[in-house]
Amino acid sequence: MARLSPVLKPATPVTVSHARGLDVYGDDGRRYLDFTAGIGVTSTGHCHPAVVSAIAGQAERLLHGQYVTVRHRPLLDLCDRLGQVLPAELQSLFFANSGSEAVEAALRLARQATGRPNVIVFHGGFHGRTVGAASMTTSSPRFRTGYAPLMAGVHIAPFPSAYRYGWSEDEATRFALQELDFLLATVTAPEDTAALVVEPVLGEGGFVPAPAAFAQGLRERADHHGFCLVMDEVQTGFGRTGRFWGHQHLGVEPDILVAAKGLTSGLPLSVMAASEKLMSMAPAGSQGGTYGGNAVACAAALATLEVIAEEELVANAAAQGLRLAQGLRRIAEDHAVPGDVRGLGLMLGWEFSEPDGRPDAARALRVQQEAIAAGLLLQIGGPMRNVLRLLPALVVDEAQVDRAVGALSRAVASAAGSTCADRTKEHA
Ligand code: PMP
Repeated sequence: MARLSPVLKPATPVTVSHARGLDVYGDDGRRYLDFTAGIGVTSTGHCHPAVVSAIAGQAERLLHGQYVTVRHRPLLDLCDRLGQVLPAELQSLFFANSGSEAVEAALRLARQATGRPNVIVFHGGFHGRTVGAASMTTSSPRFRTGYAPLMAGVHIAPFPSAYRYGWSEDEATRFALQELDFLLATVTAPEDTAALVVEPVLGEGGFVPAPAAFAQGLRERADHHGFCLVMDEVQTGFGRTGRFWGHQHLGVEPDILVAAKGLTSGLPLSVMAASEKLMSMAPAGSQGGTYGGNAVACAAALATLEVIAEEELVANAAAQGLRLAQGLRRIAEDHAVPGDVRGLGLMLGWEFSEPDGRPDAARALRVQQEAIAAGLLLQIGGPMRNVLRLLPALVVDEAQVDRAVGALSRAVASAAGSTCADRTKEHA
């Protein structure tokens, strides 16, 4: 009997039968409140009726129109629609199926456009699991180990993770930019460097927002040396951070933007956006794929963008994100839990530490397990696996935020209780 590969071990024991909004139903009949949104994918909630009906309608008309051979209406309409929400400079679009593929496309374009081999990425970043994207990923060794040789030409600079260093954001930013300049002076010369690739908020790396001064420093260096500044907005795009794009918090625009996840509410589609000038430096036919820009996925994206606008989900993400962050800070205070609550909009992380500042992955795991047992789905992230990640669908309402905060408060209390019990056992 065939089974799923053990490499696909899920973080929760739940087998989903169906879902609607933030409610996920296990095939055992249990209901869960989903604060993972499938790693930020179900932006409009599970099975939003407008998205489902757009998918069904498109499936009746055309399932697949291969974009290397023909154009199709949903693809062209999606270009128009995305053009309205993308920066005015980034109006040339390329479509693929996953975040990793869009990152690979950006890497290839940056190399094609500059004729330079190297890229610089930032510590704790996650860009995907294909070889190029995995070589650019430094949020955990498990994405790189056993995969050698990784792609050559990738250099890693520090990300200003202020909490990890125990510094202020200004100190961490100064350090990170100094180290970047040192890397450019000693290891990868500017004339060999094609791109700086960065997430506006580290995602898998533990929900650490980039300080605006850091992003501005990257922009200045990219302008000065002729690098492409690539922003990986696979997690931060489409309202997740309380603004439409994560880079809007930073006061700088990228040369290449990649996005995926929240775009379709659940179907595989990713996009790379750049200027016409930059995009035309890639020889025709050098990028593409069999399923890229699939018609049904494009219809889902059009409906998703409509729902985000009509239901004012970006503003909702900002408002509910504040409420959720306040709730988390209250729990941390009430239960005297050392750590850091941070993030933007509905991309919130709660990093757990020991009283002396060392990462407390055991507490993160216990709280996650208690929360799931109580019916709240949560994920863990961060290089040290000590960050609870909260990223509900953008349609989340106050009552759902309050329910999640209540469940988490109880989970934190019982996780602390189990520590005491464990310690008592250990000492017995
Ligand atoms: N970039 C970022 C910032 C991501 O968070 C992810 C997925 N977690 C990816 C790229 C890769 O996307 P995919 O899994 O669709 O290949």
